[in-house]
Amino acid sequence: MSGPEEENGFISNVESGRTQNLEWCSCGNCRIESESSDCKCCWEVEQLNARFVQENITCIRNFSSFNTLFLDKTMLEMMLRDKHFIRGDPIDDKLTNRSYRVAAYKQFNTWAFRVRQLGKRERRGPLPSCVVARIRKKFPETDGNYGY
Ligand SMILES: [Zn+2]
Ligand SMILES: [Zn+2]
Repeated sequence: MSGPEEENGFISNVESGRTQNLEWCSCGNCRIESESSDCKCCWEVEQLNARFVQENITCIRNFSSFNTLFLDKTMLEMMLRDKHFIRGDPIDDKLTNRSYRVAAYKQFNTWAFRVRQLGKRERRGPLPSCVVARIRKKFPETDGNYGY
């Protein structure tokens, strides 16, 4: 019984080491996060690998439609209003930066992880640190306290 357990122990040690340095980042735009599960580079999202080759980019933030898809207020607002329209619940007239961040994260998740591979479960993970940093920079929280 000790086999898999030892293996898991080893993996979690490596994971917790992530909050100490940026050796896990290959794109150059990630930041050290307090949660090791958030220490993830865009290069580690296998669903994105094809984009890097197609667009000849080194970070997913340089993807040609990145700003339009994830940082454009009109686009995000449309997405939010759409969702509320479908659910039939009201939306606040004044959208906050938090609303935009939530919408942008969701949008990225849908976009990045919708690829399904035959025989494999769809895999979702935390968003890459570089992406979260960019979205937070665009839609900052005034008190610097990010729940999202
Ligand atoms: Zn990175
Ligand atoms: Zn990146």
